[in-house]
Amino acid sequence: MSFVRPNVEAMAGYVPGEQPKEGEAVKLNTNENPYRASEKVYDAIRAVADRGLSRYPNSVGQEFREAAAELYGVEPNWIMCGNGSDDILTILTRTFVGENQLLRLPYPSYILYKSLAEIQGARAEEVYFQDDWTLSDYFFQPPAAAPTAPFRVNALEGGVAPDSLRLVYLPNPNSPSGTLLPLETIEKVANNLPCPVLIDEAYADFAGFDCVELVKRNPRVMISRTLSKSYALAGLRFGFLIANPEIIEETMKVKDSYNCDAISIAAATAAIRDQEWLQATVQKIVATRERLQKRMRELGFVVPDSRANFTWNQWPDPELSCEDLYLYLKKNGFLVRYMKYPAWSDGLRISVGTDEQIDQCLDLVEKYLTKDN
Ligand SMILES: *Cc1c(COP(=O)(O)O)cnc(C)c1O
Repeated sequence: MSFVRPNVEAMAGYVPGEQPKEGEAVKLNTNENPYRASEKVYDAIRAVADRGLSRYPNSVGQEFREAAAELYGVEPNWIMCGNGSDDILTILTRTFVGENQLLRLPYPSYILYKSLAEIQGARAEEVYFQDDWTLSDYFFQPPAAAPTAPFRVNALEGGVAPDSLRLVYLPNPNSPSGTLLPLETIEKVANNLPCPVLIDEAYADFAGFDCVELVKRNPRVMISRTLSKSYALAGLRFGFLIANPEIIEETMKVKDSYNCDAISIAAATAAIRDQEWLQATVQKIVATRERLQKRMRELGFVVPDSRANFTWNQWPDPELSCEDLYLYLKKNGFLVRYMKYPAWSDGLRISVGTDEQIDQCLDLVEKYLTKDN
């Protein structure tokens, strides 16, 4: 299609996890929450419906901003609402990264980051994690400093000016590994690199750790959050940004005028006001995660310590294909995520479901490993 911008035409495009029809499979593939959201959320949705939807919503979701500000100990002008945190990521990429400029991210991590760079006509510099899921020294240096580094720096063909690095995406905990980087590491990234750093905290509620204090200390550090995972509201579409007001002022210019609707604003506000529900739910999921992780290791998988609501499972022996195991589980009604990262490796990402779902899934894995396949 010759009318399409060449950088868009060249894109593979992000492929979301499979969404089977309701009841067709046990979904352990997109890190959704297996529990029902707080009843207060459903009450809030019904209240909006009763009031009616003929009016535009508040354009910045002020009610949510105030609730989030209270929770995190900032002023409301430190918060921007988004139609899911993917919307926040889109807005940030558009705000900071222009054509031919550079966006840095660790690899493997969230695949969407690269697509967002490509849409901008920008370049994604994917820097390999080390084997133990820590960042390599290269990650802390401006791009031109090590042009021949043995990492995947596909974006650097033809060389690149050090000031072309405009934004860093750092998921913490990371997906697919579930691993957590400590505060010192993140602070070092922020202090060493000449651009804003977005900590994608989609899974922070499961980690019991976040970088909110760092955002308050360092005006270049930002955090994105989502209600899709820990709050069990993936179907609602709501995420938010915590950042210095000087950044929020700029990102507000880039977002759609009404990027969040009246239902999602009211529901998200009710959700984050119910911290009791959140803590109880997170506790259950973390307990199940620990059991899942332990048993997968006993079965012989290599599983890094997860601080999220999923585990990353690799089989050390090339004889067993993780893809075949994925297909076997799928045939038996359990959908997990098979991930194959080019020039890296593959594995299974299993989301934490209910105890019953995880036990059944583990039994199937065991059955697969012990019979002749
Ligand atoms: C799920 C996920 C998101 C997206 O969340 P939404 O709010 O549903 O758009 C962002 N970042 C990471 C790392 C995720 O896993």
